[in-house]
Formats: sequence, C-alpha cells, structure tokens
Amino acid sequence: MRISIGYIVNLRTLKMPVEDYQAVIGLEIHAQLQTKSKAFCPDATEYGMMPNTQVSPISLGHPGTLPKHNKSAVEYAVMMGLALDCDIREHNQYARKNYFYADLPKGYQITQDKTPICTNGAVDIITDGVKKRISLTRIHMEEDSGKSMHDQDIYDTLVDYNRAGTPLIEIVTEPEIRSGDEAYQFITEVRKLVRYLGICDGNMEEGSLRCDANISIMKKGTEVFGTKVEVKNMNSMSNVKRAIQFEIKRQADLLDQGETFISETRGFNPLDGSTFSMRAKEMANDYRYFPEPDLPPLIISDDWKNEIQSKMPMLPKAVSKKLREEMKLPEYDVEVISEDKQIAEYFLRIAEHTNNYKAAANWVMGSIKSYLNENAIPIERFEISPKAIAELILLIDDGKLSNSSAAQNVFPALAKNPNKDVLSLAQELNVIQTSDTDFIGGLIEAAFNKFPDKVEAYKNGKTNLLGLFVGEVMRGSQGKADPKVVNEEIRKRLD
Ligand code: ADP
Ligand code: MG
Repeated sequence: MRISIGYIVNLRTLKMPVEDYQAVIGLEIHAQLQTKSKAFCPDATEYGMMPNTQVSPISLGHPGTLPKHNKSAVEYAVMMGLALDCDIREHNQYARKNYFYADLPKGYQITQDKTPICTNGAVDIITDGVKKRISLTRIHMEEDSGKSMHDQDIYDTLVDYNRAGTPLIEIVTEPEIRSGDEAYQFITEVRKLVRYLGICDGNMEEGSLRCDANISIMKKGTEVFGTKVEVKNMNSMSNVKRAIQFEIKRQADLLDQGETFISETRGFNPLDGSTFSMRAKEMANDYRYFPEPDLPPLIISDDWKNEIQSKMPMLPKAVSKKLREEMKLPEYDVEVISEDKQIAEYFLRIAEHTNNYKAAANWVMGSIKSYLNENAIPIERFEISPKAIAELILLIDDGKLSNSSAAQNVFPALAKNPNKDVLSLAQELNVIQTSDTDFIGGLIEAAFNKFPDKVEAYKNGKTNLLGLFVGEVMRGSQGKADPKVVNEEIRKRLD
C-alpha cells in the first residue's frame, strides 16, 4: 500500500466534523419588476423579443440623453417594502455605480447607494416547523444590464441590450440565515410575495428572480463571523441550496486543513453542484459611487405612500391567516393553497358558495390540481367555475352524489362542458343517488329474501354481515342509492 505524504498530514490534522461549524448566510436577491417600460425611459421590457429591438438612445446611454423616473417601478418597490414592514424613505437619491462590462452600455449602473428606498423589515420563514424571522438590511432600486451571449456565434460574444435599463429591486438580508434549507424557504417566501403583489413573475429559470448567496462558517459557540464568499448564477431555488451546502463543506475542509481563504466571488456548476472561483472580491470603493446628476431626487410623500398602501392586493400572510383561523383548515392545506395566489383566489371563490371549506380545499388540492398538472395549464385557464365546484360539494353533502362519482364522472364531464348545469350533467350521467326510502326499502327486502340464513345470523349477533346487505342493495340500485340511507334503513329493520 502506498501512503502519500498528504495522507500522513491528514492523519495528524484534527478534523472537525462539519456539524461543529455554524454556517452564516446573507442573501442578495434581484427581482425584475414587471413594468411595461424601463426604469428610466419608455422602452418596452417584454421578455424574449428579437435582440436589440427594445433599445432607444437612452437605454444605450448615448451622450445628451436624459433618464426619467418610472412611477410604476417606484410604486412596486414601495409595495414590496410595505408588505415586508420596511421603513419607506421619503428622500431618495439615485447613484451611479461605475464599472465596465460589454453589456453595460453606459459604463455605469443607476442604483441607490446611501439612500435605499426601504430599510429594516423582515421575512418570516418556517423550516422544519420552526418559525424564524430574517431581518432585511435594505431594498434598493436599480436598473438591469444587457445580456452577453457567449454561445450564439463561434467567434464572437454577442450582446443583447433589450434588458438594459429594466427596473430591478435588490433585497439584501442581514447575515441571519443559517442553512441551505433556510435560504430555500426565504426565497420561497420572497417569490410568493412578489407574485401576490404582481410586481415580478418570480421566474428563476428565466432570470427574473436572481439570488446571490454570501456564505461563511465559524466554529459553533463563537460569535465572530468567518471570511465570506459570494456565490452567483444559481438559476433555481434548489441550486441555491446545493451551492450553500457545497460551500459549507468546502470551507470546513479548508479550515480543518489549517488554511485561510480569501473573500471571493464564486460561480456554481449545476452539473455536479460544486462552486468555482471567479474573481477576488472587488472592494466596494472600486465602483466610485456618486450621486446620479441626471435624475432629480425622488420624494415619496406620505400621501403617495398611503395611496399605494390602499391599492395593495391581498397578501399571502392574510390568506394563510384566514384559512387557518376563520376556515379552520389544517396547516398542510393552508400551505398548499396559499402557496399560489391564483390557486388561493380560486379557493376563496368556491368558499363564497359553500361553508364546507375542507371539502373545497380537498377539491382544489385533489382533482383540480391533478387536472391542471395533467393538462399543463395554469388555474387562470381552468374553465370549471368555482360556483360549479361548490354545487358539486352541495350535491355530495346532500347525499345525492357519491364522492367517487363526483370525482370520476361529473368532474371530467364538467371539464369538457364547463357551462353545463352541474345537476343536469349528473342526471345525464345517471349518477344521482337517491335517498328515496320506498325505493331503497324494496331493494332491502329483496336482499333479505335472497339471504334468509344471513338475516338469522345477523339477528343472532353476526352484525358484521351488515356490509353484505349494504353491498347487495347498492348493487341492486346500480350505485344510485345513498349509502348512508341504505345503512340506516337496514339497521332499522334488523336491530
Ligand atoms: P459586500 O460589501 O461584500 O457586498 P455587504 O456587507 O454589503 O458585503 O453584505 C452583503 C451580503 O453579505 C449581505 O446579505 C450580508 O448579510 C452578507 N454578509 C455579510 N457578512 C457576512 C458573513 N461574514 N458571512 C455571510 N454573509 C455575510
Ligand atoms: Mg454586495
């Protein structure tokens, strides 16, 4: 056996298990705002257009052009701040952040430096059933860069400036996140919120929501943070989690070997979940921030703030609270339904027509979600009305329809004929159950006549024969007798 020098050194090093280290994580999340036009000019922001078709001289930063505030972009940023209990700044000043990139035509980015529009505030997350509040440092407004494409041409990098100038908010957290799971939950909450607010589509794959993770580790029990690295370019929530988990392990191994490491920016390789060094971290003052001279200060008055507040849509927290406290739904249902704004809205509209909230939740989480998945359509394009679902629930509760006929016969038929009346459809399908005791009574007598010995046995104590009679009557009714009434009527005659 060959023993390498490295192996001997490792034997002598005291290796700490990774659990003995505490990870410290702060996130920086960029959300592209869904305004029709760009942050500082009227160019369109639509995604997926032909390259360089949404670029005016202002987007391209030609000399002599002047940027102007986009009111909607500011209102969206304020909405986010209000939803997260932030302080909203009255006097806002934009700044220039100077750096050179091929996809940054002006040579600087308009952003906010000393006066972020929102400060403080927090996001509540739940990980493994434990509630935790992650404080925000700031939310500021800025503009996006263009996009360099390295894979479109064999010789050259091509640049598309359509994205240049698209409004962004950047959400910066305090270093209070402690694991990849917590980071995952944090992004989940932020994504849910921007979607509820309708200010960003939250799509990480297309880059409308982007997350950079700052990660360091320290020995458990100490208070002093270690050197952080910043990992960029993770295009899904699970990749953010993977990158964090990889970094924790990598940094623990380095510390075990007695090595120190530098603060750097790292990229993420989704194929194997590893991170790799991109560049040593620039110092903040490399950017030579200075106040943007072409834009006047932006004043957010109390009146304007109140007006925005009054236009705020329903928020996920309020929905969860209503489902949990007023409708008494189990926590699992609360989470699944409040997860998506459109799903929640659909559910609440069913609940306008029935008080059987649990049944409404079951329909949404069961048949409806399966139907949407199978047909790959969003609930906005689901054609059965919430009122029709409430009518199905009522028919079931009245004993006129069994759960299984409702799900297996009426629901699919209704999906094909969404405008048809629910009761007539069920009648056409011949699945309406009857609780007519004369009809059921006749079938019961027939069953008793068929099995006189079993009737005797039942009367002598073999009460588990009840199922046999129920089955016989249900068969006789071709599934149309209400099983509850059948049960009652048989008992009445035998007990
Ligand atoms: P930088 O100047 O490098 O951008 P900031 O102080 O602005 O650093 O912080 C950027 C992000 O890094 C914030 O989300 C912050 O919470 C996080 N952060 C700061 N220090 C640490 C640390 N030691 N470990 C992990 N994250 C950190
Ligand atoms: Mg930073």
